[in-house]
Amino acid sequence: MHNLDPQSLWEASVAKLRGEIGEEQFELWLKTVQALKLENGILLLKVPNKFYSSYIRENFQKRLASPLRELAGTPVELEYEVSRDLRAVLPASDPVPEASAQSDFPLSELNPRYTFSSFVTGDSNRFACATAEAIAKKPGMQYNPYFIYGGVGLGKTHLMHAIGNAIRHDYPRARVLYTTSEQFVNDFIKSLQSNPDEFRAKYRSLDCLLIDDIQFLIAKDRSEQEFFHTFNSLFDAKKQLVISSDRSPKEMAPSEQRLISRFEWGVVADVKAPDLETRIAILRKKADTEGFYVPDGVIEFVASAVRTNIRQLEGSLIRLKAFASMTGSELTVEQAREILKDSLSTEDAPPVRVETIQNAVAYKYSVDVRDLKGQQRTASIALPRQLAMYLCCVMTDLSLKEIGRAFGGKDHTTVMHARDKIAKQVEADPFILEAINRLQANIKAVENQ
Ligand code: ADP
Ligand code: MG
Repeated sequence: MHNLDPQSLWEASVAKLRGEIGEEQFELWLKTVQALKLENGILLLKVPNKFYSSYIRENFQKRLASPLRELAGTPVELEYEVSRDLRAVLPASDPVPEASAQSDFPLSELNPRYTFSSFVTGDSNRFACATAEAIAKKPGMQYNPYFIYGGVGLGKTHLMHAIGNAIRHDYPRARVLYTTSEQFVNDFIKSLQSNPDEFRAKYRSLDCLLIDDIQFLIAKDRSEQEFFHTFNSLFDAKKQLVISSDRSPKEMAPSEQRLISRFEWGVVADVKAPDLETRIAILRKKADTEGFYVPDGVIEFVASAVRTNIRQLEGSLIRLKAFASMTGSELTVEQAREILKDSLSTEDAPPVRVETIQNAVAYKYSVDVRDLKGQQRTASIALPRQLAMYLCCVMTDLSLKEIGRAFGGKDHTTVMHARDKIAKQVEADPFILEAINRLQANIKAVENQ
């Protein structure tokens, strides 16, 4: 491919790197760059400012060498020309102009159903809820930042909206923003192409920032830095910050310790799985709110069958309601059992043992269980090991520490890393998902024998 024009050569080379460096880095540093000419083995790149050339030189130049050489058929060096007519993706370092933010501040979407009065408390969430209520009364004063963590479907998002709704109600002029960390990242990246100042103005002029599922933001270099600055500027101005995560600050990857340690400056609270009484109360309340009559026996049956996830509890109720509205007669426990049969099966199943998982994975990948517990890091062993760790995380109730122990005494961060890595792959790759589903089916079959 010797007849490539400079821009195509550049784009094709960058494309080879894209998977490796990730979208964010690509968007930030490489997308705006233009290739001007290719002469005597030198590719001249147009960059918006010097910061770009030094960043690209330090971080990507070496890795670009081989795709460039392959595509051009000869070694290619990079040189840079700064051109002001390219739009810098980098935010300007000037302070944010105060006034620009005031005008068209977008109201964030708060779910009006997620309030304190619709939130049922029990031992599992009392502290988290009481703290949230105190914050809503006096935002930015006492409990700042407020960090809520806990498993899926246990009420974190509900509590954050409840805080937002209450502040909105009591302080109609307060600037409250609820966002997920994914939205924050997208918003940030988009702003870099248009108007970073506006982004900063928007976030730094808030009275209360509620940012949900922070785990998706940690370790995204530039976005995390930007959040760090947003955090600091709001915190210094005594504005309320509420952060949620699926894990405690201690369990987070140590990529940005300075940020994570700040989460612990204020109050950290967790939400746990609710006990039976609380589950009954939640079901009662939901049914009453919907004007749906459910006999006590049925409520108790559902509450004892669905144990770990409040979203699933609600889902069960919705299915029962659909059924009841068709038949028009009072529900019985037997009917409820029948209707919810599929969704309950996973919860009713006996606990899965680590050995079963290790055996199934070892068998499928033709490795020895001893290897899974060993230290070898070759890919042919590391991948099955990570898969097995992932399966232990999703199929057993064991803690990360316990799982680490079951794999020859590995650290809990190793297990966490494996879990997160495979979880990402499962989302991105339908083949992996399929392989995992099949493994899980095998494991369950063995356990149910
Ligand atoms: P998380 O953000 O922790 O994954 P959510 O806040 O989205 O969980 O909660 C899942 C569902 O369960 C929501 O519809 C929420 O209203 C409901 N829910 C959670 N906890 C409670 C509670 N204590 N009382 C009433 N409803 C709850
Ligand atoms: Mg949530």
